[in-house]
Amino acid sequence: MTKLLICGSAAAEAVPGLFCTCPLCLKALKDGGKDVRSRTAYQIGDEIRVDFGPDLFYHAVKYGLRYDKLRDLVITHDHRDHFCPEELGNRRKGMSKLPDGALLNVTGSESLIEELKSKVDLEKCKLTVSPVKHGSRVLLSNGVELTAFDAQHGAPESLFYAFRAKEYSLLIANDTGWFPDQSWELLKEFKFDAVILDCCYMHREQRWGHLGGDSFIGCFEELRKQGSLKENARLIANHFSHNPNLTHEELCAWLEPHGIKVGFDGMEIEL
Ligand SMILES: [Zn+2]
Ligand SMILES: [Zn+2]
Ligand SMILES: [Zn+2]
Repeated sequence: MTKLLICGSAAAEAVPGLFCTCPLCLKALKDGGKDVRSRTAYQIGDEIRVDFGPDLFYHAVKYGLRYDKLRDLVITHDHRDHFCPEELGNRRKGMSKLPDGALLNVTGSESLIEELKSKVDLEKCKLTVSPVKHGSRVLLSNGVELTAFDAQHGAPESLFYAFRAKEYSLLIANDTGWFPDQSWELLKEFKFDAVILDCCYMHREQRWGHLGGDSFIGCFEELRKQGSLKENARLIANHFSHNPNLTHEELCAWLEPHGIKVGFDGMEIEL
């Protein structure tokens, strides 16, 4: 059994937003609980991490994560809430005592890998890289096969990913609006046990850059219609903005009748 951990469940500004005085952010700061959301990231077991944004230190401390055990870092796009390449510089001698031969492979778009190379000495930091584009497949640790899909988002090259292992098939799709045609086509090759979709907004209809409103629910329906979901597939919403001003409880009241679970910091899913 592999465990998927939602390390963070917020959009770029987090909840509570650092400087925000909206009712949701003030409530989150006062009451804590599931309304406190750090920037979106995931861990699949101990060895695979998806996105490495500004809350990576908080995630390690909060969940007791051992980043020295990571073998694969998979990055969706180079917006700063998802990727802080400079932090990987802390793998170099003098900053971390890594075991001999401990390598971490970074998978991401070509431009993201170029940016990483410009900021960090790969050899000194014991990093290897796998540049990918839509349709690329990479074998990750523990025999997990990664497939990259074009997302529809603001960063120059934004991707989302499927993870296929013997015992599970998982889709993590943020940040993205309504999928481009080529991604819908490639998704027909998959039958997912679990799908996590970008749900940045619920208070307005949104198809470009992120999903919100009816198109968010419509995206799950389309996946089901084209046969990309197993019958009992788990559907999870994640990557929430403070803008809809909806608490975790209010999001649950909206989405659970559609069979969709609301992601939160610390949510665990057994794959
Ligand atoms: Zn984001
Ligand atoms: Zn706010
Ligand atoms: Zn983004």
